[in-house]
Amino acid sequence: MADTLYCYHCGTHHPKEEMRQIDTKAGKRWRCIKSIEATKRGRAAREAFGRQTTDINKAEAQSKAKLLLNIER
Ligand SMILES: [Zn+2]
Repeated sequence: MADTLYCYHCGTHHPKEEMRQIDTKAGKRWRCIKSIEATKRGRAAREAFGRQTTDINKAEAQSKAKLLLNIER
């Protein structure tokens, strides 16, 4: 695990160049740029992501349902 740092936000390690050190109540912590940017983009982006995920889940459920129908035939 060379040049990776623990990201307290994701609970996992990321490459050091993707990390920023920030001040929290608990002291200095490392957090990845991706999660910081995601928070900055805020609620609209999270909602858009939620919708996207829902669409993917729907598509997946539909293809699984089709698969089941084909098997039954
Ligand atoms: Zn992260």
